[in-house]
Amino acid sequence: MTVYERKENESVSDDIVWHNSAVSNKDRASLKNQTPVVLWFTGLSGSGKSTIANAVESLLFQLGKHSYLLDGDNVRHGLNKDLDFSNAARVENIRRISEVANLFVDSGTIVLTAFISPFVADREQARKVMKKGQFLEVFIDTPIEVCEQRDPKGLYKKARAGEISNFTGIDSQYESPTNPEIHIHTSSKTVEQCAKQVVEKLKEFGYLDVSS
Ligand code: ADP
Repeated sequence: MTVYERKENESVSDDIVWHNSAVSNKDRASLKNQTPVVLWFTGLSGSGKSTIANAVESLLFQLGKHSYLLDGDNVRHGLNKDLDFSNAARVENIRRISEVANLFVDSGTIVLTAFISPFVADREQARKVMKKGQFLEVFIDTPIEVCEQRDPKGLYKKARAGEISNFTGIDSQYESPTNPEIHIHTSSKTVEQCAKQVVEKLKEFGYLDVSS
């Protein structure tokens, strides 16, 4: 059994206790004049998660807000490079990402995650790791035909040729969010319009201006 196949909530040792730091999460957040939150982007491969998340980060930067993007491919190069695409490893992939996102939120940062995260149960699991109000599901809603036409990494072509198996939308299911906090339809919009829509929602929900 690999370490990541331990049961949920099972720790290696009972002797590990959480340390509270002298500077609180509230202190760190107020210094940044923002309310930290995780923007959990979900959508098919090629739907635009990374592209829009990057554009949102640029807009937030211009507004003087502190953010960090956890991108699927990048995380798999380091922290999660020991994980394959089996079901157990996919669950562990999401678990580690949500724990890392939670630490970033504790640091006062607005976190953006860009992973397909196709299953409702896994996204709900991620939501549970964060405190109430610190998790916003962002559905990047793009029809599969459009994603396949874009095919920015040539993955649909490979999946159709049978070179990749368990490919979401083709031979693995994508469970669409039923009630996402932010819902973006990309096919009739530019990247900039989609990113602006996300930032407007953040403003509307009160995450960007704490002092005013
Ligand atoms: P994902 O991260 O969901 O796999 P990517 O962001 O890597 O998707 O790729 C999306 C592709 O679609 C990019 O090549 C991007 O330029 C293109 N694209 C076209 N229109 C849009 C749009 N409105 N929003 C996001 N991406 C778009």
